[in-house]
Amino acid sequence: MKKKALLILLIVISLFDIEKAFAQNLLDSVLPVRGFAIAAPRPYYLDSFVTFIEKELAPRHVNTLILRVDYNYQYNSHPELRDSIALSAAEVKKIVNSCRNNQIRIIPQINLLGHQSWASRTGNLLMKYPAFDETPEVKMPEKYKWPNADSLYCKSYCPLHPRVHEIVFALMDEICDVFEANAFHAGMDEVFYIGSDKCPRCKGQDKAKLFADEVTRIRDHLASSRRELWIWGDRLLDGEITGIGMWEASKNNTYRAIDMIPKDVFICDWHYERADKTAVYFAMKGLNVVTCPWRNPSIAVSQMQDMVAFRYESTKEMKPRFRGMMQTVWSDAPAFLNGFYQNKKDPQTGDNTPWNCFRQLYDAIGKINK
Ligand SMILES: [Zn+2]
Repeated sequence: MKKKALLILLIVISLFDIEKAFAQNLLDSVLPVRGFAIAAPRPYYLDSFVTFIEKELAPRHVNTLILRVDYNYQYNSHPELRDSIALSAAEVKKIVNSCRNNQIRIIPQINLLGHQSWASRTGNLLMKYPAFDETPEVKMPEKYKWPNADSLYCKSYCPLHPRVHEIVFALMDEICDVFEANAFHAGMDEVFYIGSDKCPRCKGQDKAKLFADEVTRIRDHLASSRRELWIWGDRLLDGEITGIGMWEASKNNTYRAIDMIPKDVFICDWHYERADKTAVYFAMKGLNVVTCPWRNPSIAVSQMQDMVAFRYESTKEMKPRFRGMMQTVWSDAPAFLNGFYQNKKDPQTGDNTPWNCFRQLYDAIGKINK
């Protein structure tokens, strides 16, 4: 009798496993990439973040985690670039192990080319290597405000400086090694300073070509260790003709770069105001694309439905390029987790918050299985 009960129990368990595997396969075929992008935690917050991976990301079938590391790692190749408080290799391994156990692919990120400053603070790269600054004549303001006379959003490094790549490539290699990653996210969004008239190397050059050449250089370096390059898509869209504007698309003549970059560069196409159908444009150019929402849950759900429809309604050539969805979070991990667990409202936007967007997007993704 005991044997029979055990047998029935085993059958029930295996049926449950089959159902789970079937649900997973269905989800993988409908939305292969189910992503989440956030800043890597500081060491003091590591354990809370790992718990979040296990309790919130894994059960929602998130399978891709983009971590903005930047200088929050104790680099050995360039210790001068470390943040004063930064993750050790042993701490990174805690994240790596948790993600491995939950079948989550980690893609570490360092902002390259653009985003070399934030508000009135210069980032570590230009702080230590001011010669790399594309616009050294633009002084950092004491109190930052936008708009400003210099059109300063963020500083960029000069992609034609002869020493910049030996440094950033060393950082990339080190961060990919420690995270055991087969892809790297280079950021490259909102690059407003490029091909400056005052840069002795870049002046007069085609900005689309400058951008594309930098993407290609980074891609080629990663490809030599069989790693993939991921970037944000905004510089590849024409902000004028689409009306999408200068943030989520380009108004500084970089958009033609879309025809100059290798087709295996993976595009994170972010749109926060509308469910713009630009994923189709990227896929038609031969590029893999994920759509990225931020804080508006209803737009995120529309974008997800679009992504599913694009895959369903496309040719066999185009279909695999529509890769899925990725929730983007622009605060640090503690601010997001606090908002998430306390279900906080935003004073300006109410329930339009990144945590509510994440919750509702993944609730909708969860329903695909049912
Ligand atoms: Zn330059």
